[in-house]
Formats: sequence, structure tokens, C-alpha cells
Amino acid sequence: MIIVLKSEAEQPDIDAVCDLICSLRFKPRVSKGDKDVVISCIGEGVSPHAMEVLRSLPMVDRVIPIQKKYKLVSRAYHPEDTVIDINGVKIGGGNIPIIAGPCAIESYDQFRTAVKDLVACGIKIIRAMPFKPRTSPYDFQGLKLDGIRIMRDVKEEFGVSYISEVPGVMQIKMLIDVVDIIQIGARNSQNFDLLENVAYYGKTVLLKRGLAGTIEEWLTAAEYLAACGSPNVILCERGIRTFEPATRNTLDLSAVVVAKELTHLPVIVDPSHAAGKVKMVPALARAALAVGADGLLVEAHPDPIHAFSDAAQQIETNKFAGFMDEIKPWLELAKGLPRK
Ligand code: PEP
Ligand code: MN
Repeated sequence: MIIVLKSEAEQPDIDAVCDLICSLRFKPRVSKGDKDVVISCIGEGVSPHAMEVLRSLPMVDRVIPIQKKYKLVSRAYHPEDTVIDINGVKIGGGNIPIIAGPCAIESYDQFRTAVKDLVACGIKIIRAMPFKPRTSPYDFQGLKLDGIRIMRDVKEEFGVSYISEVPGVMQIKMLIDVVDIIQIGARNSQNFDLLENVAYYGKTVLLKRGLAGTIEEWLTAAEYLAACGSPNVILCERGIRTFEPATRNTLDLSAVVVAKELTHLPVIVDPSHAAGKVKMVPALARAALAVGADGLLVEAHPDPIHAFSDAAQQIETNKFAGFMDEIKPWLELAKGLPRK
């Protein structure tokens, strides 16, 4: 349930409504805009009688019952697009950054070369992955602490921002001061304990959609982050598992359209993990921009055929300028699309 107060409502009015909400066993969350004060009530089930009492309060303009499992991330709660600022790079509301970097940090030289090449193409947010949660325990798991040391050195040299996946609660503290965006991977998308622990730090979080996650489950996971302290969430569609083996995953572009309708959060697309094959990445990237994605997350490696993970899907970093040229008209088009 969302309660919108009249524009003349003062702090004692807000307090009175919050007290009543608490007495109904809801948790009030107040958000003050230019015109309205909106109180979101977190909790379950409200009786018609309680709704009537709330509606009849003199300072209440309207009460919007929301049956959905998410509120803070919903458009009903916050109609304007959320714009997130990562060290001067904006995401959302028509700001469409391209985030890129290797699947994993493999060595100082590999990562530094990747960052140098990508920075030359105008990329400011880099995938920096010292932890690689893998389906098989025998696959490369990342350089871990050595990878974090490499991240620090390269960050100092190039001044880039990092997005980095935290595979579990244990790794949050190791990464927190060097990352700018914390990534929750597809396999962890409903790891609620991890979501709560990550949210505690209040940083921007990129939340991948689960391999078989519905849009509602994705948004509800984002709600965990928002409700627990991280309102700045970027959603990332990375393809879902279907019966089709021709692609690694099936890129669900309709989910981008639906999600943007339902939430004010930026929704970006990872065409690399969807395609699984580098040849398909530009086409999927263009399609994502055409449906209104707020950004792209693309894998790029200085020497893809020797990559320790996801070798088939990474764009060669010294050819990344060509990729940027290929998507440029769609990027311009996307900037002009009407925002919800
Ligand atoms: C990744 O982006 O590094 C990754 C592992 O992706 P996903 O969680 O979408 O599989
Ligand atoms: Mn990968």
C-alpha cells in the first residue's frame, strides 16, 4: 500500500500517519518529492476498514493498494526513471552507458591491456571479476585476492569504475572498497541472505535475472535490495534457459519492455552471456538498445581464444572500437526513445 499525502502536509502530519501505519504492523518508508510526500507501507495484508481509516485522514490525498510483492522498486511508487550516478557516469532516464571488460581477471597484463583498450573506446565502467562462480568446481574460479590486488593497481592507473560480482557473503568485505557496482550473478539472484548482506552497504547493485527467474521474482529480489538499504539497483537481463540450444541462453527482450513498465529502475542487457557466441553479440546489443535498454554489459578480452572462461563470447578488446561503431546508430536512437 502506498499513501500519498496532500502537498500541504507538514512533519506532524507525516508522523501521525506513520504512527497509524506502525500500529497496523506496517513499516512506513517516507519519500519526499518536490510536490508530494509518499509513504510506502511495507508489510502484508490490510483490511478494507484500515484502508478507509487511512483515506479519511485529513492530510491523506490518496491510498493506493498495491497487491504486488514489490513496492519500492515499482513505478506506482516512483513514476520517474531512477538515474544512478557512478562517479559521473549516469545510468537511466535516457543515459545509456556501455559497460565492458573480460569475463575474469586472469593476470595483471591481461586485465591492464583490456582496460587500456576499452578506455581508449570511451568505456568508463569496467567488468572486474576476481571471483568466478562456475558451474563446474574444476573450472577456473578466479584469481581471488590476487585479482583484487590487480584491480587496485589498474584502477589507480586508469581511474575507471568497476563492477564486480560477489559470489557470497564472505567476499563482500574483500571487495567493497574497490568496487563501484556490486554484481549479483544469475545463480545468486534469489540468494536472499546475500541480497540482504550486500544491501547493508548501500552501494549500487547490478542484479542479474535468474536463469529461470520470472520478471516478478527478479523485481522481488530487487525489492529485497531496496528494502534492506540499496535503493540504487540496476536490473540486467542476460537471457533465460529455454529448450533452444542454438544460443547459450534465450535473450528475453520482452522482459526489458515489461520490466521498464513495472519499475523505475534502469534495465540493462548482457548480450554476451545470452549469445554465448561473439558473432551474435552486436546484433543482440542493437536489438536491446532498440527496445529501450538503459545500457549494455559486454564481455571483452585482449586474447579471447586463450581466455580462461567464456572464450567463445568475448569481443577482442582491440576490436572493441568496431563494436562501438556497429552499435552507434542504435545508441543514438535509444537516447531518443520515449522514457516511461
Ligand atoms: C558474469 O557476468 O560474469 C556472469 C557469470 O554472468 P551470469 O551470472 O549472468 O551467468
Ligand atoms: Mn562470463
